[in-house]
Amino acid sequence: MKENACQESAYDVALRQYDAVADKLDIDPGIREMLRHPRFAVEVAFPVKMDDGTVKVFKGYRVIHNTARGPGKGGIRYHPDVTFEEVKALSMWMTWKCAVVGLPFGGAKGGVTCNPLEMSQGEIERLTRRFTTEISDVIGPATDIPGPDVFTNPQVMAWMMDTYSTQKGRFVPGIVTGKPIPLGGSLGRAQATARGLVICIREAAKELGLPLNSLRIAVQGYGNVGSNVVSILNGYGCKIVGVTDVMGGVFCEAGLDPAAMTTQLRETGSVEGTPGTDSLSNAELIELDCDVLVPAAIENQITKANAGKVKARMIAEGANGPTTPEADEILSDKGVMVIPDVLANAGGVTVSYFEWVQNLMNFYWTEEEVAERLERIMTDSFASVLGTAKEKGTNLRAAAYNLAILRVAEAMKLRGVCR
Ligand code: NAD
Repeated sequence: MKENACQESAYDVALRQYDAVADKLDIDPGIREMLRHPRFAVEVAFPVKMDDGTVKVFKGYRVIHNTARGPGKGGIRYHPDVTFEEVKALSMWMTWKCAVVGLPFGGAKGGVTCNPLEMSQGEIERLTRRFTTEISDVIGPATDIPGPDVFTNPQVMAWMMDTYSTQKGRFVPGIVTGKPIPLGGSLGRAQATARGLVICIREAAKELGLPLNSLRIAVQGYGNVGSNVVSILNGYGCKIVGVTDVMGGVFCEAGLDPAAMTTQLRETGSVEGTPGTDSLSNAELIELDCDVLVPAAIENQITKANAGKVKARMIAEGANGPTTPEADEILSDKGVMVIPDVLANAGGVTVSYFEWVQNLMNFYWTEEEVAERLERIMTDSFASVLGTAKEKGTNLRAAAYNLAILRVAEAMKLRGVCR
């Protein structure tokens, strides 16, 4: 997530990924150019009263990249490294993600530059309510629907929904997704990203001729996505050989015990030191001897410096943007199958879409119905991306971008935006 003057920004990476595919597509030059820019972006500065009585000013952003296929959709991130450039990149990736899995949404993203780990719950609530008020003319259940992202959670979504509903004088659950279940959240949302990721791994393993229950797995990040992926794959009989988090990591050739790691995390704040394991660094994890590597933490983890040393047959991107374009090329040349973020982690936004639909209908589905619909969308989307990759002779990322850009460009053309 960290960006500095010497490092390419996430937005530069997003543009490079877009340009590389768009250059080969027969799309209207005006549409091609428009898709390089956010349609709408707002930067706000707002005051928050802190617990010690002082007033601190925070900067927040909401960017809507494209709405040709439907309202903007994308999470709100609270993190010290949040920048306008990062939010712009994330909003563009959301456009492609929604289009790859065929959701009737455009792409958006938001963020506040803050460190919630050093703030009290009261401070986070006041920040959330004030930020929601600042962007309340931008967001709306028919225009732009936020959701949770890094360091925001169902409680933050509940505060956003309450603030917006209070301003409108009515209950508006469809303003955000990822809400707690009693406030209109969807069953199955918490595990949705991991479930979608596992469906992709299962389909990719079939393609590579690898039996699912023989896979050796390494996972970076043991939060919502990483811990649920570990638990589901462990249930399928896969061997989890390595797991890391921000503080350190663990390795066990015979297979790690998810329950023991979860206990260790709860008691110490990290999986590091789980009894019966050896310690493992994040750098070692990327190069670990395994079949499937799942980056499920932050951006820019697989780079030109370590991509050549990756031993996994498959990388399933739980995180957004974990692989740099240079690393992507190296991995393609090595024959490593990379399931790109815009497909691999799309289970989350898919069930967010289900949540929004349930809110609009005021009619709620069972967890089985949610899982069944997610299964269908993810399996079909994986097949479309794989089919396009084979037809065009590209890797899966280029194929996913190819499908997504054409779908968005077609919607823009049909609307008569650029002729
Ligand atoms: P989380 O905050 O629940 O967990 C993040 C994990 O990453 C933690 O275990 C943390 O210790 C670890 N981590 C943080 N910095 C790290 C570092 N420098 N090195 C190694 N590990 C580090 O977040 P999450 O919801 O699991 O999201 C993880 C990634 O997946 C993010 O990139 C997010 O944008 C993406 N994602 C999440 C969802 C979702 O539904 N939660 C959906 C799509 C994409």
